[in-house]
Amino acid sequence: MSFNDLGLSAELLRAVSDQGYSNPTPIQAKAIPIILQGLDVLAGAQTGTGKTAGFTLPLLHRLSSNKPTDNNRRPVRALVLTPTRELAAQVAESVVTYGKHLPLKSGVIFGGVNINPQISMLRRGVDILIATPGRLLDHVNQRTLDLSQVEILVLDEADRMLDMGFIHDIRKVLALLPKQRQNLLFSATFSDEIKRLADGLLNAPVLIEVARRNTASEQVAQTVHLVDKGRKRELLSYLIGDGNWQQVLVFTRTKHGANRLADQLTEDGLRAAAIHGNKSQGARTKALADFKKGSVRVLVATDIAARGLDIDQLPHVVNFELPNVPEDYVHRIGRTGRAGNEGEAVSLVCVDEHKLLRDIERVLKREVPRGNIKGFEPDLSIRPEPIQNGRRSGGGGRPGASAGARRPGSKPQHARSTGSRNGGNATGDRRRSAGAKPTQGAPRPRRAASR
Ligand code: AMP
Repeated sequence: MSFNDLGLSAELLRAVSDQGYSNPTPIQAKAIPIILQGLDVLAGAQTGTGKTAGFTLPLLHRLSSNKPTDNNRRPVRALVLTPTRELAAQVAESVVTYGKHLPLKSGVIFGGVNINPQISMLRRGVDILIATPGRLLDHVNQRTLDLSQVEILVLDEADRMLDMGFIHDIRKVLALLPKQRQNLLFSATFSDEIKRLADGLLNAPVLIEVARRNTASEQVAQTVHLVDKGRKRELLSYLIGDGNWQQVLVFTRTKHGANRLADQLTEDGLRAAAIHGNKSQGARTKALADFKKGSVRVLVATDIAARGLDIDQLPHVVNFELPNVPEDYVHRIGRTGRAGNEGEAVSLVCVDEHKLLRDIERVLKREVPRGNIKGFEPDLSIRPEPIQNGRRSGGGGRPGASAGARRPGSKPQHARSTGSRNGGNATGDRRRSAGAKPTQGAPRPRRAASR
């Protein structure tokens, strides 16, 4: 199947060929002809499948062939809603890339930045608007945005929008749109909540599903390193230095953990930055830009912040901590090995995470190969920390989470002493890393300290 067979205009085919794409991906081959017919679509596709071009190309085609009804104004005719600012910015970038030979205008609005430039942009008029739901409603409330001429609505990563609690905002936005319109809903998963949303939103939709990342993830080389919690940072620095990895995305479970790890890696002589929801939009954009151009070598991210990051040919992904939800593992490693490129995903797994690893392997339907790095073998005498009310009492979760989560009347569980075991709190980690201070960004493997 070639792009020429899909029914796209010459301007769009030129933009696709400028990008160097030779063939459409499966989601593109399936979705583009259906969207061009004006039908509603319910698509099961994850990031990395080429879904953005899958809806952007036909959307641009349809808008450029239907002239706006009111020629003096440029009303918003296509609205794309995304869960995060990063995804909004990336979709907007794709719209500009694929629409570069067409006379259409687009704009992006999201929170966390000054609203005034967005108001001026909306006043000048855009055909395509990409937005996160909260800021979109701010504009509606300030009457700086008119959605009454929307012909095409796209909900991108709808499952994440629901996860992030946007359902009420989405419903408010839907109420502002004309009844007669084309709806495209993209989601990686189909929970009951997504099905309910789809039922109320879509009109006789065509269901399109492409291979889940579970199968695509097979093109990513995955390795698990079993290691003590207190030595993960050291092993990470070693792997980066030893493999001479130049661009690595590292996942932590918490924002606090992301900051701490980025600081520690910087102390190890690695250029590192953290990206998470507590950072200002400016700081996040800068960290991502520095990472893309290579001046930051290690980007440490939480799941939500990393969602939608589109970095071409990202070669290395590291799970510094395993996610609680196995599907997030699949999302995380999907950041590498994209669109046919080879990638490598490494997970550092301590004794507390063995159950999470088993759950992940159940979803993958296979065992992830174990790596073996001399000097970093785990101390087999260490037992997992007890779990209380779904949380560990020690460093795996949020600081202080165990005390807050304690059932009334139950005995307090004390986090184990970090001095005597592989403690995961900040003090324990720092103490150990200070002792293993590397010289050139890559510490030499060494035996676990005697206990
Ligand atoms: P997405 O799933 O939309 O996030 O896209 C994943 C990546 O695939 C992006 O970096 C795109 O630039 C790239 N891509 C999209 N379509 C194609 C294609 N037909 N051929 C090669 N790469 C593509």
